Amino acid sequence: MKYAAPRGTKDILPNETPLWQWVEAACREVFELYNYKEIRTPVFEATELFSRSIGTSTDIVKKEMYTFPDRKGRSLTLRPEETAPVVRACLENNLISPDNLVKLYYFGPMFRYERPQAGRQRQFHQAGVEAFGSADPLLDAEVIQMSVKLFEKLGLKDLEVDINSVGCPKCQPKFREAIKKYFTQNITKMCADCQERLEQNPLRILDCKEPVCQKYIEKAPAASDYLDPECKDNFEQVLKSLESLKVRYRVNDRLVRGLDYYTMTTFEVVSKQLGAQNAVCGGGRYDDLVAELGGKPTPAMGFAVGLERVIEIIRQLKIENRQLKIGIELFVATIGEEARKVGFDLITKARENGISSDIDYLGKSLKAQMKAADRMNAKYVYIIGEDEIVKRSAALKNMKTAEQKEVGFDGLIAEIRKGVK
Ligand SMILES: [Zn+2]
Ligand SMILES: [Zn+2]
Repeated sequence: MKYAAPRGTKDILPNETPLWQWVEAACREVFELYNYKEIRTPVFEATELFSRSIGTSTDIVKKEMYTFPDRKGRSLTLRPEETAPVVRACLENNLISPDNLVKLYYFGPMFRYERPQAGRQRQFHQAGVEAFGSADPLLDAEVIQMSVKLFEKLGLKDLEVDINSVGCPKCQPKFREAIKKYFTQNITKMCADCQERLEQNPLRILDCKEPVCQKYIEKAPAASDYLDPECKDNFEQVLKSLESLKVRYRVNDRLVRGLDYYTMTTFEVVSKQLGAQNAVCGGGRYDDLVAELGGKPTPAMGFAVGLERVIEIIRQLKIENRQLKIGIELFVATIGEEARKVGFDLITKARENGISSDIDYLGKSLKAQMKAADRMNAKYVYIIGEDEIVKRSAALKNMKTAEQKEVGFDGLIAEIRKGVK
């Protein structure tokens, strides 16, 4: 019997995790620079949380959720996204109050039952932020700027923000009506998904990537024509704030987000370094979600980043990450049983001093140990045989430069510290 990872899931192997850790550290650093704090929620929630928030007419809720009854028959769902769980956690723990701006970030696996294809997995990972409690356009601009800063930090270039406003609950229905009316004329010539969307979620037709639908989408009414004066004014202020923060943006009135709960500002960060599918993250406002899930009306804004995609982009663009932690600092190669004991004492002392180190456990020859050290990406190898034990001194080899230097047992740690700096 051979086991395999479930379809649509992937192991992230030790040769890949340094890059993941580096990306996660960059996220953490940027988010905390803007005073966002980490929140961790369970990977499963009551099913209703998602059907209520994401919308029963979305593909996610209709076809893509991992939903199952637990042993007591309660319907649970593996989280397909993290905004609703964060809102739920905030309400349950009373984090949201009128005089408090709550800024949170998260990391973690999400689950959607999709057809696995390049860049699409059933278990995938996201990082994201959510800010609750302010409708200030400057907060929109801050969140957007932060997302751009994150991708700059990760080494992406030619970044631009695609931005739109989809209006508030007062004006969005008019736009929705206009969209519905417009597409009704040609809907039979459009793709099956769009035909389904027309009744339940017409805005999502604007998101369709099917070539057959594009010529109709191009001429569709624009959200900007239906914004009421307040929404129009708000959008202008967001754009002005972006200008003052020197964030490059492009108003894209085709931009709507896939989920039902978005209001007002929606945005994507795109990089011109990438081809047609050039968006690297997306987000926006969702001012009604907190009330929808049982809280007091609370304006909110956030974005999420797909980490698999970011990792893939970094690999494709061969962005060099000097900070990647691969390998160890010291490998002690030994010849004979006595040398192994001495070597083991030395790596113990090295570890106590914060120097990552290792030794052979397989009884390998010196040549094989050198090879192993090379595979481990050891920075230094210290080679101990019988003579070395007597003189309490041995050759320290720098694996990069191949230089060798005689170093006493007692001076080893100081010597490595010098080199590591
Ligand atoms: Zn409005
Ligand atoms: Zn379509």
